[in-house]
Amino acid sequence: MLTTDPDYYAVASGGLSADDVPPLTASPECDAVTRLARVHFGVAAALVTLSDGHGPRLQAADGALPGALPPDLFARSVRVGKALDTVVVIPDTRDDSRFFIDPQGVAAKWPRFFATCALTAADGRHMGALCLLDDAFRTFDEGQRAFLRDLAVLAAQALVRAHKDTALRDRVAELEADQELTMLALTGSGTGVWDRNVVTGEIHYSPAWKAILGYEPHELSNRIEDAYQRLHPDDLEHVKATMQAHFENRTDTYAVEHRIRCKDGTYRWICSRGKVVSRDRDGHARRMVGTTTDITASRELAAQLQQTIGLITNLTDEVPGLVFQYRESADGHGFFSYTSDGIRDIYEVTPEQVAQSAGPIEALIDPRDAAAYRQSLVESAANLTPWHLEYRVRLPRQGLCWRQGDARPQRMPDGGTLWHGFITDSTERKRIEAELHELATIDHLTQLPNRRHFMIQSEAELVRVRRGDSLGAAVLMLDLDHFKALNDRWGHALGDRALSHFARLLRLEVREGDIVGRLGGEEFAAVLPETDTDAAIALGRRVQRRAAETPLIHGDNRIALAVSIGIDRMLATDVGAYQSLARGDSALYLAKERGRNRIEIYHE
Ligand code: GH3
Ligand code: MG
Ligand code: MG
Repeated sequence: MLTTDPDYYAVASGGLSADDVPPLTASPECDAVTRLARVHFGVAAALVTLSDGHGPRLQAADGALPGALPPDLFARSVRVGKALDTVVVIPDTRDDSRFFIDPQGVAAKWPRFFATCALTAADGRHMGALCLLDDAFRTFDEGQRAFLRDLAVLAAQALVRAHKDTALRDRVAELEADQELTMLALTGSGTGVWDRNVVTGEIHYSPAWKAILGYEPHELSNRIEDAYQRLHPDDLEHVKATMQAHFENRTDTYAVEHRIRCKDGTYRWICSRGKVVSRDRDGHARRMVGTTTDITASRELAAQLQQTIGLITNLTDEVPGLVFQYRESADGHGFFSYTSDGIRDIYEVTPEQVAQSAGPIEALIDPRDAAAYRQSLVESAANLTPWHLEYRVRLPRQGLCWRQGDARPQRMPDGGTLWHGFITDSTERKRIEAELHELATIDHLTQLPNRRHFMIQSEAELVRVRRGDSLGAAVLMLDLDHFKALNDRWGHALGDRALSHFARLLRLEVREGDIVGRLGGEEFAAVLPETDTDAAIALGRRVQRRAAETPLIHGDNRIALAVSIGIDRMLATDVGAYQSLARGDSALYLAKERGRNRIEIYHE
């Protein structure tokens, strides 16, 4: 009889069992062998011990063991024989020197009789021993040795099976642990699992699956028809078609994103993935398993992102002008990594045309501004200063236009430069500026420079005269004679015509580079660079003659204009241009005094 008293085992196994070694599965065959051995040999106890890498351990035992067993009893016994399967018999341990090792007299508790046969696997591996113990001296004949060997073969086979069972048990435990981990991971990630019997239309959901929809683990039916009821009507057809495609083996797996109704009636977005894991002989799906992930949050995020992208695209495309990102490598090769739709107006090209090279744009820059354009970019890149430039472009459709560019540079890790900026159409502003400039400088009635502009140009000429590298300049002051009378007789409108008529005559006589202006009323002036007094007098005469010979036609009347002229020179010592004009004015006064339609030269 095998005792079940744990204390007994502790004693019986002595130092045999190592606590940290996983036990072999119980082997009923080993138990049977020990029973058979004890009864057959009529000994007190029979044991099967294990002896592997972990040291000797007790696998099966039958009978009552006499006292304690020595810790290395089995190893020692087995080593006695020449071959491992040799049966070792110690008829009386008191006669055996190997058992006289205990000074405290423990040997007295050891069994008197001891026989053992090694258990060897088919591949020769030593597995343990079948042992017989008795508390009395015994003899053991050849027949008994042969029977012990036969029993040992049985026990060895039983142990091989027990080892296999143990390996299987460990593998199952591992798989279970794996599955538990997978389940934990799935639950933690908000992923639900479903398992569908395609034949019966039954579908089972994991608690995590139900939790996604807000259901308790015991809620929800197991019918596929009910599952389809929860689908968003707009997604139903798509889901069914995707499922059908997988059933018909047209897809490797089933994966679909759709909306599903929760317990509270709201819809959530889920991603469902699955696979048919079993098909019948005709290929019809029988079982399908899959996972379901709640993707509502990521869908919302994606929608928000899409909105933001839409907004930015709209903004950059709708603002007048071109929003751009421009990259230039250290060797100067540039391309537009982003351009808004405005590029079609600003440069009359498409974003694609400049995505590889900025060449198509550089070809459009007006030759007068091409160098400044390149230089401004070089400087902005070198000093990382904001880029600002007004330049002209020649476009196929719009012709010559002004563009204004502004951008901020930043250095790239590879040593290149990246600009973010925008380019606006400044053509209209440039036109208005030019108009304003004209308004500020040109007399509207005569189209001659006004007094202010004439004075600015005269001052510039005085600077040249002071430099002394020219003949010097002459100054003419001109005043129409009896103009008040003309106005009075023919009317103010004709007076105006007379003024612009005279301005035209005057302009015809002067050279390019001469400075002419209307100082006010019917007073005009001219500064003639590189001109001596004689040439100035000659010009004055030509103007008078032309005025006399080119009368103004007014109905049947021919109205000739007469003009008095005063002349002087611009002097290097003059503080300002006004001084020479004042002297010319004195000479003019003299001309009036002396009868009009005359020319007078200034004298001190
Ligand atoms: P003088 O021969 O001494 O120069 O006599 P004048 O009448 O030409 O000179 P005055 O200075 O007495 O008169 C100038 C006139 O020119 C007075 C003014 O009404 C007229 N006048 C000034 N500006 C304009 C103008 O823009 N249009 C017209 N139609 N007349 C003007
Ligand atoms: Mg006058
Ligand atoms: Mg006058």
